[in-house]
Amino acid sequence: MASIEVSNKQVILKDYVTGVPKESDMLIKCTKLPLQLKDGAQDILVKNLYLSCDPYMRGRMKNIASYFTAPFTPGLVINGHGISKVVISNHPEFKQGDLVAGFTGWEEYSIIPEGRGMRKILHTDVPISYYIGALGLPGHTAYIGFFKVSSPKPGETVYISAAAGAVGQLVGQFAKLHGCYVVGSAGSKEKVDLLKNRLGFDDAFNYKEEPDLNAALKRYLPNGIDIYFENVGGDMLEAVLENMNIFGRIAVCGMISQYNLEQGKGIKNLSQIIIRRIKMEGFLEPDYAKTYPEFVEKVKGYIKEGKIVCMEDITDGLENAPAAFVGLFHGKNIGKQIVRICDDK
Ligand code: NAP
Repeated sequence: MASIEVSNKQVILKDYVTGVPKESDMLIKCTKLPLQLKDGAQDILVKNLYLSCDPYMRGRMKNIASYFTAPFTPGLVINGHGISKVVISNHPEFKQGDLVAGFTGWEEYSIIPEGRGMRKILHTDVPISYYIGALGLPGHTAYIGFFKVSSPKPGETVYISAAAGAVGQLVGQFAKLHGCYVVGSAGSKEKVDLLKNRLGFDDAFNYKEEPDLNAALKRYLPNGIDIYFENVGGDMLEAVLENMNIFGRIAVCGMISQYNLEQGKGIKNLSQIIIRRIKMEGFLEPDYAKTYPEFVEKVKGYIKEGKIVCMEDITDGLENAPAAFVGLFHGKNIGKQIVRICDDK
């Protein structure tokens, strides 16, 4: 019997990207996909519901090995984390109708070889989009970066850059639950207001309005910084190093200000690491797969008890995915940037 063919819109990377990514670096291609799987392999065919826009994907648009996975291939569909529904399964662990989270294509339907990298979503008592946000890569990153890398103690002072983003918003809320004094920075008044009035940060400031970041940090953190959660790098890192307390910790999560530069900015005052006996540690979420179950259990509990707020910025339509992704590099997103292809109804 002939299989049904569905239309399958895809986001294609045109070519490797230099500088700040643009919508025109990607194109939308209309293709068709037969709703069938090859015999023999334990593949699954999924309908994609939500896609995650993540800064690391920028690294995959260069023709060099990036820290997460291989570069994208120009001319082919790009991929990343998403939430999908199983349409056909040849895999014993997945059945039709299962909701799954994991690596998928930026397209309407994807075939996932051997179901690789897909986790079944077992609990739908929170919005399923959270599994690419607060309960996915950004949430887990915030959790390990704060609790495992930063060695926090109640009463300590925590500073977070890109604080109104997917990771930053959660780091701040975890730090408040832990009894810390929390200050964040972000790139607009609206974000600063949200940090202070909705997410419970003790203070926040708009770094774009501060001509002297060192002076701003002294003003907002007069007792110095015990923990810096680094999301941006560059000038901010230089200013932070002048404001760290002795035996402070810097959890180096990301350096988004450097991702579009051909030549990264040199940091002039690294000697402060010695003078102030700072522990600075880079970390990557995939190295902490073992803590994922503990993290989901704990953070789902916080969400259900109303102890944390999960801000999502949802863009509708696959055709708007390039703009949503590019927006990350202009600070357009408030909270976790997601693309909704369709909901799970
Ligand atoms: P996000 O904060 O939701 O989005 C990126 C934000 O960065 C933007 O909204 C913008 O906010 C800010 N930004 C963009 N360009 C900037 C620039 N040139 N200088 C300063 N700020 C800039 O992204 P996210 O998913 O939470 O990721 C935050 C950081 O964590 C990124 O560096 C990412 O690469 C990293 N990360 C690391 C891991 C890991 O395993 N280590 C995992 C996930 C994410 P403003 O309005 O504040 O400018």
